[in-house]
This record gives sequence, structure tokens and C-alpha cells, in this order.
Amino acid sequence: MTEPRPAFPHATILGYPRIGRRRELKRAVEAHWTGATDEPTLERVAAELRRTTRERLAALGLGRTDSSIPESFSYYDQVLDAAVTVGVLPERFSGLRAADGTIGLAAYFTAARGEGDSLPLEMTKWFDTNYHYLVPEIGPETVFSLSSDRLVRQVAEARADGFTVRPVVVGPVTLLALAKATDAAPAGFDPLSRLDDVLPVYVELLAALRDAGAEWVQLDEPALVSESLAVDGAALARAAERAYAVLGEAAHRPAVLVAAGYAQLDGRAWEVLAAAPIDAIAIDLTRGSAPARAAGLDGKTIVGGVVDGRNIWRGDLAGAWHKLEALESLGAGAVAAGTSTSLQHVPHDVADEPDLDSRLRSWLAFADQKVGQVTTLGLGLRSGRATIDDELAAATAALADRAAAPGVFDGAVRARAERLSASDRTRSSYDERAAAQEDSLDLPFLPTTTIGSFPQTDEIRRTRARHDRGELSTLEYEDLIRFEITAVIGLQEELGLDVLVHGEPERNDMVQYFAENLDGFAVTRNGWVQSYGSRATRPSILWGDVSRPSPITVDWSRFAQALTEKPVKGMLTGPVTILAWSFVRDDQPLGTTADQVALALRDEVADLETAGIRIIQVDEPALRELLPLKRGDQAAYLDWSVGSFRLATAGAATATQVHTHLCYSEFGEVIDAIRGLDADVTSIEAARSRMEIVADIAESGFDHGIGPGVYDIHSPRVPSVSEITSLIERAIAEIPERRVWINPDCGLKTRGYRETVTSLANIIEATRLVRERT
Ligand code: GLN
Ligand code: ZN
Repeated sequence: MTEPRPAFPHATILGYPRIGRRRELKRAVEAHWTGATDEPTLERVAAELRRTTRERLAALGLGRTDSSIPESFSYYDQVLDAAVTVGVLPERFSGLRAADGTIGLAAYFTAARGEGDSLPLEMTKWFDTNYHYLVPEIGPETVFSLSSDRLVRQVAEARADGFTVRPVVVGPVTLLALAKATDAAPAGFDPLSRLDDVLPVYVELLAALRDAGAEWVQLDEPALVSESLAVDGAALARAAERAYAVLGEAAHRPAVLVAAGYAQLDGRAWEVLAAAPIDAIAIDLTRGSAPARAAGLDGKTIVGGVVDGRNIWRGDLAGAWHKLEALESLGAGAVAAGTSTSLQHVPHDVADEPDLDSRLRSWLAFADQKVGQVTTLGLGLRSGRATIDDELAAATAALADRAAAPGVFDGAVRARAERLSASDRTRSSYDERAAAQEDSLDLPFLPTTTIGSFPQTDEIRRTRARHDRGELSTLEYEDLIRFEITAVIGLQEELGLDVLVHGEPERNDMVQYFAENLDGFAVTRNGWVQSYGSRATRPSILWGDVSRPSPITVDWSRFAQALTEKPVKGMLTGPVTILAWSFVRDDQPLGTTADQVALALRDEVADLETAGIRIIQVDEPALRELLPLKRGDQAAYLDWSVGSFRLATAGAATATQVHTHLCYSEFGEVIDAIRGLDADVTSIEAARSRMEIVADIAESGFDHGIGPGVYDIHSPRVPSVSEITSLIERAIAEIPERRVWINPDCGLKTRGYRETVTSLANIIEATRLVRERT
């Protein structure tokens, strides 16, 4: 080491929401995409947002000049940021590089969103969260070089404002571990094999950050805690050893913090980081216990991630303090208080929720409150526990108040759950169901359908907002929704789809809608969390025992079905997804909560059948997302999650066709669970990965109905008839064709009508052509 290292601050967060308290970034970015604003305008808004964030974090108690404020801004995604920084851009976008090879904002957005025939980067879930990152494409031909100075400029920008921030960048091991091989790569190529080639670029980046004034840098390496990546743990640990030997020994660099959140850092990866020539390690102590002593920790700071970066509970602050105290025994040079992950997974501020019940509010901590918690703990570390006794006691009192509050425990709900037996989770055999459904539904070969939602036009959104504000009576509002449903049914009949949907115009969000209609939930006004790019969701808060006061979707489905002879699918969100996309109570096992939600849905299924609905779709797009990162925890998870889906659906009659929809393209790991759901038809995402998934499905022997998506709805691009035809042909070449359904990858609500109508027409035409040929 050539330079003395500055001390790590006593408290920090690993990252902060990027979208802005009022989703300012979303609006600015989307305005830029439509061409309404130019790049300098967008850059000005983003710089202003970063400035506001820094000022806010300083006001909340993080230091202006001690590197406790992370610089974690991103226009779209942190993985894409890192990829572009080291020069990773697929060949199909290489024309968008500047003359000197650098990658500017336009190229960055195009890689994220696609253009013309150039497909965007694939998008997939970031570890076990509802955040989606873009998958870098790396091959033997990839040339790594420092191609963006954006992060360096942000450090300098902060410095000009009097802040010494800690730039955050996805580390080399995680970047490569999350990448996929380029099309040009030979079979079996592993992007991690390029580690030695990318490291010099990271070395160069560290030097540039140091020159811009960074005293600390944070390299995020969550891949090191995951056991569910394609690369195995031993290879990841070896890569980390190599990477941090090289980066640690770089002659000119800031002090290095390696952050390995999202689960417990243990085994070889932990030992490797402990021994590496780096300066600090951040570990997650909310989803794992303290690691064992390891050689090499004496000069390092351990940042104890004791404040949960992924839930919104104020939680047990005294317990967090004890975990920090316990870290002392590791023999590290110093201990600091931190969050378990970036706070990008939680909303900005509880103070923005005036409508929430004040008692509930006192149990909560959003990002800003969590910053307050780490600074409290940091103060305790610096000045002794006595200085924070009052804060710890107040949090403990809030926890006790929560445990005793009415609604948290509902005797009737508990009693019903206790009476359940295995038969409540079992339907008649699939063959029996398939025969009964064939009779009752009489569908053509390769039936076409959509996933549920139709475009949510500005008009629908405005109508809902006016109703929410009380400017529109419920009667008027419902009339407009019926008008919309009528139009959507008419459009589908015109297009010639076989199984119709009502379009979900009454739903702001597939989870929040149910949360609003179930007891035990609260909804927020400004609690937005980034899902991907400019998209954010507003998770509800599941705080108490769940029950259904009255039917939720039945009137809309009955109305839609009355408009057509064709079957209209009833449309529900499954228990696992309702949990995954809400902030869920942390005081009982998830499985207990899931069964409560399932029972409410089971009643809804029964009411839909009574209303004459013959197909009911129960969406579980989040089934894969909640899969624990540690293999040892996965079986128990799959057990309760599959069990709750079956509890929700197994009351359906033999002739009722149960569909489910899953939103991802990695099938392999969860195939047994998907089979276990025992849905009659399962639709999945497949278009962006060009049907790579069908081979896995075929191999697995999955023998129920399956609809691999043929239209990537995450992009405004319209797929051509020939493109869709070849996707369908790929699917039926591998899977028994009488099982195959034709549908888009996901719901259409984020799309505009223009591209939707053309895309659906192309799907129908492609299906017609394939039907004719086979
Ligand atoms: N039925 C929902 C829709 O179409 C499913 C959305 C999802 O899977 N994310 O919008
Ligand atoms: Zn989906």
C-alpha cells in the first residue's frame, strides 16, 4: 500500500433510492425518451436530484466529507452502468459508440430499450428482489476499456459541492457472474473466464476515482453470497481472491469497501475477502449471522449490515446494536453500522405518508428513517451505548405496541387455517381435468390469449386518479371502467383471440388492487420503489392477519363474460406474488401469511365459478424471485409457496381451467415447483431470450399446458410476423404441440395501444400460418 487509508465512517448506507421522492427521475427520463427534452436538460435534472439527495443524507446525519454518503445514482440500472463503464456493449449497438470508443447516454438507453431489429439487453431479477437488472453480454471477443467517466464526474460534481462521497460500482466478480455469453461465444463459454482482462479497467477506474477526490470506493459483490447463480461458489471465491488481490494492490486507488449483502457471506468467499488487501467488508446481518473469525481482518473495518435494506419495519434497534457489539469478537480493526443492502428497495420517507394510520406509521422505517437508524447506531459506536439508550428503548416500545395492536392477530383467520388438511391443496388428476376442460371450452389448436392487462392509457389513469380524489363518483367511475372493458373485449374479438381477458383497467397494480380490497393491508401514497429502468411499483404493507371482507373481482369478470361467447379469464394475483411485492410482516413465518392470503383467494375463485367464469388465471410472476439464495433454504420455501398456490386454486371444479403466469425465463431451478403448482396452463416469459427456455421445458418432461411468450412487452418494439412464426416453430419443435399456447411474455399495461394492436395482430397472423402448416 502506497497511501495511508482514511478511516471508514461509523455509519453508512450501501445505497439510496435513485428515483426521487416524487419519481422525478422517471418523469425526466421518460420525457427525454419521447424527445420532449434534450440530453443536457436531462443531465441537469439528474444532477439536481443527486444534489438534493446528498443534502438530504447530510441533514439526516451522514457526514459531508467522511465518505459515509454513497454515490449510487443510476439513470437506469447499476449493472448496465458498470458494464458500460468497462466498455461492455453488444456488437449490435457498437455503431452507437462515440468516435473515441466511449459510450454515451444515448447508447446506454438504447442498450436498455432496444431499437429497430436490435433487441435490448435481457432483463432479469436482481438476486431475490423485485428489482430487475440488464444482463451484460460478454464473449471471448469483448474488448474491455474504460468507456464512461460518468461515475468519476459524479464524484467531482459532489466534490464541487463540498461533499466527499463514496462511489458505488458493481464489482468485477458480480459483473461477470451476472453476464451471459454473447452469441459469438463458443458453447460453454463462461464470462468469468475474462476476469483477468477486465481487472486492469477496474484498476484504471479506481485511479480515476481517486484523482476525482474519492477517498473510499464501494464495490458491490452480492454474487459472493448467492448459491443460485450459474457459476458455483468455489469458482466465485477463486475469482474474488484473484480480483481483490489485483485491485487491492493497485498503486493509486481509494480505500476499498467490498459489499456482499443480500444474504450471509460465508465459507470460502468470506475467508478470501478477510485475507484480501482491501480495507473494509460490508456483510448482511439481517439474513444471516455473524461470520466466523477469519485471518486477515485486523486492519479492516467490518460494516455490519444490521438495518434491513429490504423491508420497511422500524424493527428491533436494540437487537441491531447487539449484533454490532457481537462483531467486536471478530478481531477486525473497526466496526461500523450499515444497511444490509442498498436502500434502493425501499421508498424514500415515512413522512410522505400522511394517510397512513399514525399507529402503523410509528412501526415503520423507510429509507430516510433507516439512515437515521444507522446514524444512531454509529453514534453509539463512537460515543458509547448510553448516548443512544433512548432511541433503542423507543424502537423496542414501538415493537411491543405492534405485537399487541388489534388486527395483527385475528382469531377467526387463525382458526380457519388450523382446520386445513392436505386435501384442501389437491385437485383431481390432470388427465381428468384436461378431458373435462376440452369438453367445456372447445378451444382450437395453439389457442391464443394474453396475460391479462391491456394498455393503461393516460385516460384510464386520469379517471382512476379523479375517482381517488373524489372528483368522480363511484357510479361514474364504474361506468367508465365498463366502457373500457367493453372496448377491450371488442378489440380482442376483432383481432380473433381465443381466450379473452377483461383488461384489468380497474387495477392500478396487480398486487395493490388486492391489498386495497383485503383486510390486513395498508397502501401508501408515495411509497414508490424502482422495479426496472424508469418503472416503479408501490408495494403495499401487509401488517396484520389477512381476510376478504367481500368479493373483489367478480363483478368485473361477470360483466366481461356477458359481452362475449368466448371464455373470459378470471384474473387473480397469487399469494406468493402478493407477498413478494408487498412489504410483509416479519413477525411470523412467510408460509403462515401466504396461507391466509390463499384462503381469501380461494373464496374469490369459488365466487368467480359461481358467476360463470370457466378459466381462472392466478398469476405467480414472483415465484422464482423469492427463492432463497442459499440452497439449504430452498426446499422449505418451495414447500410453503407451492402449498399456498394450491390452497388458493384447489377448490376449483375439474372443468374449470386454472392458468398461472410466471415472469421470468430461468425455468430449470424451479421446474419442480412449477410442476408442483399443478396449474392446467402456465404462461412464461420467453421472447427476449428467443425461446431458450423451451429446451429446458422439453427436457423436464413438463406435461401440462404451456404458453412461452412470443412478444417481449418490456420494449416498445413490434415483433414481425416472421419473427413470431419462428418463435412458435421453435416452441412446437421441442414441446408437444397440443400443449402449447400462444401469448405475449406478460401483461400489456405498460404498452401503448398502437404497438399493442399491431403486435397482437402479428401474433394472430403468425399463429394462423403455423396452424396451416402443421
Ligand atoms: N395479469 C397481469 C397483467 O397482465 C400479470 C402481470 C405480471 O405478471 N407482472 O398485467
Ligand atoms: Zn408477467
